[in-house]
Amino acid sequence: MATIKEIIDLARQNNPKTDTEIIELAFEFAKKAHKNQKRKTGEPYINHPLATAKTLAEMKTDTNVIVAGLLHDVPEDTDYTLEDVEKNFGKEVAELVKGITKLSIIKYRGVERYIESLRKLFLAMANDIRVILIKFADRLNNLQTLYALPDRKQKRIAQETMEIYVPIAGLLGIWHLKWQLEDLCFKYLQPKEFKKMKQKYLVEEKMERDQYIDKVKKILENKLNDDGLKNFQITGRFKHLYGIYQKMQTKYRNFDEIHDVFALRVVVETIPECYKVVGSIHSLWKPLTKRFKDYIAVPKVNGYRSIHTTVFALSGRITEFQIRTKKMDLESKYGIAAHWYYKQKDGENTVYHQPEWVKNILEIQKHADTSNEFINRVKVDVFQHRIFVFTPKGDVIDLPRKSTPIDFAYHIHTDIGNKATGALINEKIAPLNAILKSGDLVKIITEKNRKGPSRDWLKFVKTHTAKSKIKQNLPPSMIGKVLNKIRKK
Ligand code: MN
Repeated sequence: MATIKEIIDLARQNNPKTDTEIIELAFEFAKKAHKNQKRKTGEPYINHPLATAKTLAEMKTDTNVIVAGLLHDVPEDTDYTLEDVEKNFGKEVAELVKGITKLSIIKYRGVERYIESLRKLFLAMANDIRVILIKFADRLNNLQTLYALPDRKQKRIAQETMEIYVPIAGLLGIWHLKWQLEDLCFKYLQPKEFKKMKQKYLVEEKMERDQYIDKVKKILENKLNDDGLKNFQITGRFKHLYGIYQKMQTKYRNFDEIHDVFALRVVVETIPECYKVVGSIHSLWKPLTKRFKDYIAVPKVNGYRSIHTTVFALSGRITEFQIRTKKMDLESKYGIAAHWYYKQKDGENTVYHQPEWVKNILEIQKHADTSNEFINRVKVDVFQHRIFVFTPKGDVIDLPRKSTPIDFAYHIHTDIGNKATGALINEKIAPLNAILKSGDLVKIITEKNRKGPSRDWLKFVKTHTAKSKIKQNLPPSMIGKVLNKIRKK
C-alpha cells in the first residue's frame, strides 16, 4: 500500500525544490472527499488515488501531475466539484483532472467503439500528454485490484487495456508501464497459459536463475572495477512473462530457446563509458556477433537508445547485456515522461516540448474540429472494417481491414507507392503483401531508381486508391513498348 510519505519522498528525490505542502493538502482534500467510500477490495477508497500518485511520482512527473493524481476521482465520485478543485489547487491541476474525467467515458465496447476510444485518447494526449500518464497510473492500480471484481468485468477491463492502453504505452515508449500492464492483463485474458508460464518458469527454476545472474554480475563488477570504471550500476532481470510468451508464440520456440530471458543491464554516466563496458564484456565472454545492436549510434524510430550485446557467458549460457547511460535508462523506462523530468531538473520551466509525432496528433485534432462530424459521419459500421496504423512520425492512418504496406504507401503518397521495395512493420522486415493490424507502426522502404509499381501488387491491394494508382503508373509492358514504337513510325 502506498503512503503519502512515500510519495513526498519520491517527489523530493526527483526535485528537491518540490512544493510538498500542496501534495499534502491534496491528500487531505482527497481523503476528506472520499471518506466513507470503499474500493471493491474492501479497503478505503483513498488507497487508490495514493497508488495512482505513487506511480506518477515513480515516473518522475511534476508536482501538478502528482496532485492531479491524488484528486483524479474527486469530481466524478464525490460531492466536490471541479470548481472546488480549481479553487484549492489552481487552474492547471483542475485542467488535468478535467482531462481524466473526460477520459473516464472511454470503455472497450467491442470493435465498433475501439477506434472511437483510441481517437479520444489521442485527442486528450494532444491537449496535454500528462493526462494520459495519470490515466495510465489509474489503470495500473485498477488492474492490480481487478481480482475483487466479477469475472466478466475482469475480462472486459483487461481486454480494453490490452487493446487500447498497451499499444499507446508502447507508442509513448513507457516500457516499464507497458510490461506491467501486459502481465496483469495476461493473467485475466489467458489464465491457463499465464499459470503455466508462471509456474514453470518463474517459480521452479527461479533459485537457480537468480544464482546465475548474481554470479555473472559479480564477475562483471570486478572486471569493470579493474578497467577503471566508476559509478556504474548492474541489474539483472528476466524478461516479463507476457514478453516471453509472445516470443514463444511468434517464433514457435520453447522457453529455453528464448535468448533474452537472461538479461543484465549496465547503467553508466557517459556514452564513451557505454562503449568501454562493451569492450570489457567482450573481453570476458565471446559475443554472438549477429546479436550486437548499437541503438546509441542508430536509435530506434521511437527514440530508444542502448547498446545490446549477447554473449556466451558462464557455462556458455546465452546472456544479453543492455548498456546505456542514466538518461537513456530513464527514457526507456518512462518514455516521454523522462524528457520533461530533465527539463525540470535543468531548472527550466516545466514547459513540455512535444515530440514531432505528438504535434502530428495535434494536427489530426485540428481537422476533427473543422469537421466535427468525423465520428458521426463515418458510421460505426465503417469503422468495423477499418484498421489504424502509425507512420514512423506517429501519424495515424486508417485503412480498410486486411490492407497491406502497398495500400499504406499509396495512402501516404503516390511516389512512395511507386518506389516501394520493402516494408518495416514494427521495425521488422515484412513483405509488401503482409496484412496490417491496428497499432502497427509501418515504414516503407523506397528505392529512387525503381521504375514503378508491379502488376502483381494488384492481386493483393485492398484500397481503390492503390489499385487505380498502380494501374496508372505501371511501366509499359514489352508489347506496349513495341506497339508504341510501331505507332511512332
Ligand atoms: Mn481512478
